[in-house]
Amino acid sequence: MKVVVAELCEAVSPCDFEVVLSTMPLELQGTDFVPLSPPHVRLRLRREGRKIAVEAAVRARMLSPCARCLADSITDLNLAATDLWPLCGMSDETADFLVSPFMEDAGRVVNLAEYGLALLVEHLPVRVLCSGDCRGLCPTCGLNRNERDCACGQGEIDPRLAVLGRLLQDKGGVRDGATEKKNI
Ligand SMILES: [Zn+2]
Ligand SMILES: [Zn+2]
Repeated sequence: MKVVVAELCEAVSPCDFEVVLSTMPLELQGTDFVPLSPPHVRLRLRREGRKIAVEAAVRARMLSPCARCLADSITDLNLAATDLWPLCGMSDETADFLVSPFMEDAGRVVNLAEYGLALLVEHLPVRVLCSGDCRGLCPTCGLNRNERDCACGQGEIDPRLAVLGRLLQDKGGVRDGATEKKNI
């Protein structure tokens, strides 16, 4: 959905828009997020002096793998955001704004779907867990430790203790050698 900025400026009352995004998967830092239904974006735009004031609400239900066990996990996003879009040629900040992916035709047209998508991506969680106490996958055999326990962890010594164990072994070796010499 595209809106001509000049029309926003001329409007006497706030303009409301409802944008439905596609269910195309999104990627954030190597994690895929798949919308389970088309994400909804509601926008209220009104002119405030040299800017367009934006009130946005985004609703989305995303499926992504748990960061520890890779099981499918659902994240419900229900976010509200505000923004100010500087109007063309009014100030220095306009330069950045004009190259934003949701502005087209040299700042004369704003692509609301692109703006909604940018908001959604910006608010995706960096790390999704299936539950706060997810036990993850065993680093040795890959078994999902939420489902059952594997035998890999058993008999393992704390790495700090393992060092101590090796020191004791070395000492023992020297002493044994000494003892042997004495015996000879
Ligand atoms: Zn998990
Ligand atoms: Zn294991």
